Amino acid sequence: MSAQTVNASQAHESMFEAVLARLDVAAKIMNLSEEVAQVLRNPQKQVKVSLPVMMDVGKIQIFEGYRTIHSTHLGPSKGGIRYAMDVNADEVMALAAWMSFKCAVANLPYGGAKGGIKCDPRAMSVGELERLSRAYAASMKDIFGVNRDIPAPDMGTSGREMAWILDEYNKITGEDNPGVITGKPLAIGGSLGRDAATGRGVMVNTLAALKKMNLKPSEVTAVVQGFGNVGSHAARLLSEQGIKIVGIGDHTASFYSEKGIDITAVHEYVIKNNRVLKGFTGATEIAADQLLISKCDVLVPAALQNVITEENAPKIQAKLIVEGANGPTTPDADPILHDKKIICVPDILANSGGVTVSYFEWVQNKAGYYWTEDEVNAKHDIKMEIAFEHVWNNATRFKTGMRIAAYITALQKIEQAVTLKGAY
Ligand code: GLU
Repeated sequence: MSAQTVNASQAHESMFEAVLARLDVAAKIMNLSEEVAQVLRNPQKQVKVSLPVMMDVGKIQIFEGYRTIHSTHLGPSKGGIRYAMDVNADEVMALAAWMSFKCAVANLPYGGAKGGIKCDPRAMSVGELERLSRAYAASMKDIFGVNRDIPAPDMGTSGREMAWILDEYNKITGEDNPGVITGKPLAIGGSLGRDAATGRGVMVNTLAALKKMNLKPSEVTAVVQGFGNVGSHAARLLSEQGIKIVGIGDHTASFYSEKGIDITAVHEYVIKNNRVLKGFTGATEIAADQLLISKCDVLVPAALQNVITEENAPKIQAKLIVEGANGPTTPDADPILHDKKIICVPDILANSGGVTVSYFEWVQNKAGYYWTEDEVNAKHDIKMEIAFEHVWNNATRFKTGMRIAAYITALQKIEQAVTLKGAY
């Protein structure tokens, strides 16, 4: 175990503390100014609201809504809104900080933010979700802004929710400002390529890492955990590159096939099956906890946070992990992966394709001029390749793993901005 990973591996109850643990390790290695570290340890603004919503049964239910702005040193804050039952102040704070680092790694002119509503979107009707989204937009009218804070989809939300939030925001402000939110449907100012962008970023990062490892895509196998927006596109794009997908899974079922799984068939299946994998017959069903530790070369956790832990990390067989989800690896698992010489392309680099194309969407909205899908993809791929190379080089230069190297890459950029902008 290296000294660099020991400090970050102490048990952390809070997700934000897990972020700070890694920040501290990176700060020490790169000799970050203590003042800048202090600025980044404290989110700029935290908002909590209560949202009364008329439910279909005719009774009012109160929901908790959050928005945390972690930093605005590199530009207006950027980050998604998640609808999930485990949303809480600590989680939103951690996710907001990750957005600051993610935007900096991808070299986007943004700070970081995150929002969320504690709710179970699967248990709510479309009408209830619309009223909840509009209530949230109304309560955040002074937080959001095209040059202030720009939300986007995250877990449990999609273009549909972005459309409601945009519409409510525009009604309240009396302006038509499509760039105030990204990840919108195409018809109302969304960008071509945005839907698949996070999965595409996972693909580009995987190819870049395989190249460094002297492995050809046609010679490797992959397991993808999660078949939502990130996992489904990642599995499709990786298989289009010739990588054999041997394992897939979502919250309903997991599957494995040594011969490889026909990802086109899986896509066709989930479209007919309420977007879930349960009941798929093109591979053998396995227990959910077997998926991450099954035999493969590349592992893509693209579902939830904290799934690669101290318990299962010793059993992971992959040589390469590419984190499609935010925070899938706990700080305690990091040193175990490091000791096993597993290369881990961290979330703040691996899943930054989504926010990168969000940035392109915002640029197109501001210009009122729209690009082709090929233009978007080409610009995205270049940005991702540069970001990967930057992090890889920092890993070599600072003799550390890619996760800490990604933090260093981000901190180098943010440090300059904090210093140049100064304080009161
Ligand atoms: N929610 C996504 C993320 O965690 C996208 C954020 C955005 O596009 O602003 O990166």
